[in-house]
Amino acid sequence: MQQLDGGWARAWIRECARVIAEQRVALMELDRAIGDGDHGENLDRGFSAAAARLAEFPADSPGEVLRLTAATLMSTVGGAAGPLYGTAFLRAARTAGDDDLDPGRLAAMLQAAVEGITTRGRARAGDKTMVDAWAPAAQAARRAAGEGTVQEVLQAAATAAAEGARATEPWVARKGRASYLGERARGHRDPGAQSSALLLQAAVSAVHQVTVSEQES
Ligand code: ADP
Ligand code: MG
Repeated sequence: MQQLDGGWARAWIRECARVIAEQRVALMELDRAIGDGDHGENLDRGFSAAAARLAEFPADSPGEVLRLTAATLMSTVGGAAGPLYGTAFLRAARTAGDDDLDPGRLAAMLQAAVEGITTRGRARAGDKTMVDAWAPAAQAARRAAGEGTVQEVLQAAATAAAEGARATEPWVARKGRASYLGERARGHRDPGAQSSALLLQAAVSAVHQVTVSEQES
């Protein structure tokens, strides 16, 4: 399978909603340690609303699916993460356009998402935010896109995001609520980096779901 279509994008958002609901409490605990504890609840509300809207709305292309998701996240998530994820999905939607996604377009989409997050939040790599998952993910995707399949591009991104999220544990935060804690933020993984890694892993799972359903039909 060389290109991903709107069916994959729908499966991605459905899978995001499933995984975030499953990890809701774990994300709230991460945010309770270095923030205000609402991250899991905020995201669960946003992604379940996005999945519900997609189920009743005939969005066809990946771009349309991601645009609808962006608008829903912006209006439902709140906190720091709502506008940041909303912007990420909006930029990704614009880069996706109306066509199916080949490996190069997919990598460009992830790069656009990171640029959206950094434009909006002004965090840089190493600040202990979601950027520390998205930036290495986009970089790994770009490298994989040279010769890899869409699946390999997403897997590279998800692996890099998971490593990036883990790497935030010993750091002090320089952006967001966690930055108020100074040294006390050390030893805790950033909740936004963790949720970002989950979203990118969900993109990989969605490819398997779409592939499986094609083989069955
Ligand atoms: P709030 O901090 O308003 O309660 P959330 O709990 O939903 O918002 O999200 C917290 C996450 O948002 C953090 O873990 C971090 O990853 C991310 N974040 C906060 N500020 C920024 C920023 N300026 N740039 C990028 N990410 C940020
Ligand atoms: Mg919070």
